[in-house]
Amino acid sequence: MEEIAAARPRDALAFSLLDNHVRLAILDSLYERTVEPGPLASDAAYSAVKSDVGVEDSGRFNYHLDKLTDWFVTKTDDGYRLAEPGRKVVRLRRTRTLAADPAVEAEPVDAECYRCGGDVEASYDAGYLLVRCRECEGLVDHPLVPEGTLSALAYPPSGVSEVGISTAFERSHRRLAHYFRAMGDGFCPNCGRDVTVTFPPDDETRPGTAVGFSHVRHDGLVRLSCGFCGQRRLAHPLSATDDQEPMAAFFGDRGLEPGWDRMAAAMSWPVTSRDGRLAYETPDGTRFVVDDDLTVTRE
Ligand SMILES: [Zn+2]
Ligand SMILES: [Zn+2]
Repeated sequence: MEEIAAARPRDALAFSLLDNHVRLAILDSLYERTVEPGPLASDAAYSAVKSDVGVEDSGRFNYHLDKLTDWFVTKTDDGYRLAEPGRKVVRLRRTRTLAADPAVEAEPVDAECYRCGGDVEASYDAGYLLVRCRECEGLVDHPLVPEGTLSALAYPPSGVSEVGISTAFERSHRRLAHYFRAMGDGFCPNCGRDVTVTFPPDDETRPGTAVGFSHVRHDGLVRLSCGFCGQRRLAHPLSATDDQEPMAAFFGDRGLEPGWDRMAAAMSWPVTSRDGRLAYETPDGTRFVVDDDLTVTRE
């Protein structure tokens, strides 16, 4: 991680340049004037941005605008635009990730537990969307999550407040499916680096039995990890490959939508470990075998 260490002084300077609410107001104004109207929107005039920000003192306004220029803001012949780092800052703020936590109490959602068939509820707390079964011990075995937890997904507050917990439940799992597909394809959707796949360890006392990773009560999940930015996910390999054959047709034929429905279906199938491969059996007797490169074969 030498490249990360080497970038610290420059990155620290970048954060320090954001340490003023007038500068954040300038970024907001440029976002509304040069990003929201569309990709080919024209530049924003100096006077328009100054008026939006509401700072009368030109010296003070110019001082803050200059601090942002060439890093978060680009000056053009006709005015100003947001540079990509500036857009990233605005987008991060709009997710409300930095804001106070909009906790949402648990509410029932239209889903059933893939372990016991029990009722499922969703809640939101500390940046995580939590899905819990009310009737069993759940999937995740960790002191940081409550009993019955089936998933704990990092999800932005903007996707919960004004949206509602039921929709957030659907969308967070749909988004997770996209993450799994990219990582299953070998790259990290966050940083663009390589992803490695790790199969669950075998039980040495019972050959042919996968024992699964710690903290999850399932023996058939694989770990998808980006060693660069730290994205690490435990995924069901048959839902991580749900956009490829044979899984796309299998799920599609049964009317199972990407997201929770497909994950829950796959999670309910018994799994065995065989010669370093994982084999899953569906309720209608179809067997899917997964190789260590996530190639899926239907048997
Ligand atoms: Zn349950
Ligand atoms: Zn990454």
